Amino acid sequence: MAILPLVIAPDERLTTVSSPIEKIDESIKTLAADMLDTMYHEHGIGLAAVQVGVLKRLLVADVNWREGEGPGEQYVLINPEIIEDTKDEHAYKEGCLSFPDQFAEVVRPSGVRVRYLDLDGKTQEKTFDGLLATCIQHEIDHLNGIVFVDHISRLKRDMIIKKLQKLKKQGAFDHVHGPNCNHGHHHDHGHVHGPDCDNDHDHVL
Ligand code: ZN
Repeated sequence: MAILPLVIAPDERLTTVSSPIEKIDESIKTLAADMLDTMYHEHGIGLAAVQVGVLKRLLVADVNWREGEGPGEQYVLINPEIIEDTKDEHAYKEGCLSFPDQFAEVVRPSGVRVRYLDLDGKTQEKTFDGLLATCIQHEIDHLNGIVFVDHISRLKRDMIIKKLQKLKKQGAFDHVHGPNCNHGHHHDHGHVHGPDCDNDHDHVL
């Protein structure tokens, strides 16, 4: 188990397109496991490899985990591709582990069919709906160098980026993330995550 340091915006890597994974070896399996650990540690429901500084097309998601109860339904998607989406759209107030404490409403298709490789290298096809659909689309965006603020107005996006730039300069995130992190403050907000969570506007992806 390893908690990996997060890439925080603004960062060039977050606007870079990640490369396909050619071979699913032990290093990829370790990366996926470490990304899940990192996602739970940081209270996220999804994480793309680029967010831990690895420019490979790999994402993990679990929208059903609960604090203190461990994993819900874990997904590891390698080289995912959206092959179909629904005509109807859904607005959701998204957050992102690479944009600490920033949230904005993003409109996306409410369902997507995705083709991907699993950790055994088998091709899978699955339709995702609801929060999972939002999450998977958000993470696939990351693999293409797109972040959630690219979906909102330029004015609002610039405001968020400027705020983070300033906080970064002040070293606000230096103590929060990374393998030596011993922070307790992320656990202080008393928010219970998971399917019964009635707070559907602050999930970070
Ligand atoms: Zn994100």
